Amino acid sequence: MKTVKKHKLKRPAKILIGVIIVLVIAISIPVGYRIYHGNRLGKLHYDKAAISSILSKGKQSYIYEVGENKTLNAAFQSKDYQEKYLKDYEEIPYQDQKNLIKNINKLLDKEYSVKEVAAIVSHGNNEEVSAFAEREKVDDVLDYMQFDYAKLENYDRYVAYQLEERDDEEDTVTYVNLNLDKEFYTDSILIEEYSETVLANKYRQLGEKYVPDDLMKIQEKYSVDDEQYLTKVAAEAFEEMAQAAEEEGYYILANSAYRSYQDQQETYDTYKEAYGQNYVDNYVALPGYSEHQTGLALDVASKNSNIFAESEEYTWMLENSYKYGFIMRYPKDKERITGYKYESWHYRYVGKEIAEYIFENDLTYDEYYARFLDK
Ligand SMILES: [Zn+2]
Repeated sequence: MKTVKKHKLKRPAKILIGVIIVLVIAISIPVGYRIYHGNRLGKLHYDKAAISSILSKGKQSYIYEVGENKTLNAAFQSKDYQEKYLKDYEEIPYQDQKNLIKNINKLLDKEYSVKEVAAIVSHGNNEEVSAFAEREKVDDVLDYMQFDYAKLENYDRYVAYQLEERDDEEDTVTYVNLNLDKEFYTDSILIEEYSETVLANKYRQLGEKYVPDDLMKIQEKYSVDDEQYLTKVAAEAFEEMAQAAEEEGYYILANSAYRSYQDQQETYDTYKEAYGQNYVDNYVALPGYSEHQTGLALDVASKNSNIFAESEEYTWMLENSYKYGFIMRYPKDKERITGYKYESWHYRYVGKEIAEYIFENDLTYDEYYARFLDK
């Protein structure tokens, strides 16, 4: 009897163990599967929410072929994900924009090409791209957005400006970004960050109280009156340049360097009284808009000639000033861009590297700034 009893007890126990084993296997296979793919996708920098969506959509093999892709990571997490645009998401560079996937969908729905969509989303912020995605399709978006520095928010202005001025697209984008499609002194930007690459012009205003904190007096021998100041870096560069010129027999003097807001007000008033509005409009900046207030610009004179443009020093400056980081700021035939008539005597310190580029490419500083520094 004993043995029979034992036998009866063993059978359900065995069944139970068997069931448990089957259950453990049944659960652990998918769990293991998810852990395995989760790890693999995690290593490719897909977020948890994206991983779970990738696995539920069965797209893991596709992702392994693509590898890391931030736009796909965003797409799989988005409630706007659309299977038919999977390949397109892959090709559009990621932007940190709340409605990125939604906007990509809208633009693709309008039959913009992937290249156009990529250009649109990369040239504006979330709001600008969202607004653009709402409007009717345009055919010339790449004409302008092919340039890194193009701004989606300026699209309509590019179109209008080009229609009016017939400049090529590169100039159109540059000029509109500089606000040249507006009257001088309109919608001007108050400059808040000062560095040796600051751009001050008739659209970009220096604060009324802005005074550079490292003004340095230019040595008397290179100055008309021992009262000329530039920022340290510009003053040292100017002295080095004047000395180099001197060694070759040319004599360059600082005629008018740093001018405060108040100085500029007086200059403006004096010239206006003497020569009239038309003269100051062309030659004298309104206070706050003068480059002289940056401490990085100066008017030079020749020791030997009253008219700088006719002096040997002028020729020397044309050929050599860039080597010391200075550029002629208001060149001939660039009035439309700089807003100033040609000034043979006005130079601006921008550093050697930029000065050389501007010299070699025959650009104004405004253009250089718009293309390379305006972020
Ligand atoms: Zn000047």
